[in-house]
Amino acid sequence: MSDIPASEAERPPEPERPHEAAPVPAAVPGAVRGTVPKPTPMPPPTPDITYTQCKRCGTELAGLDGRYSCGVCGWSNHWSEGHRPLPRAEDDPDAPPTPVNPLGEQ
Ligand SMILES: [Zn+2]
Repeated sequence: MSDIPASEAERPPEPERPHEAAPVPAAVPGAVRGTVPKPTPMPPPTPDITYTQCKRCGTELAGLDGRYSCGVCGWSNHWSEGHRPLPRAEDDPDAPPTPVNPLGEQ
């Protein structure tokens, strides 16, 4: 009357899953490491946060300097509707000297 089933002790051990270590990617030869940006003496003007309604779905939108993009329906206004001219590539102090297309050189 005091029989205890011993089946609990006879479970097969769970197979161990060896954790495969992900290979660490080696440094890509030819990759240009980013340089520490120097502090600019005159920071560019900060864009203003502006608000409007989406012209397609009516969602209240916030944008920068009158440029909007709706996250609900995907509408965006034309860049020329912005309140200020967009910065040019030459205005970027961190811009590379010349753009290089790595696929173009073979
Ligand atoms: Zn919208």
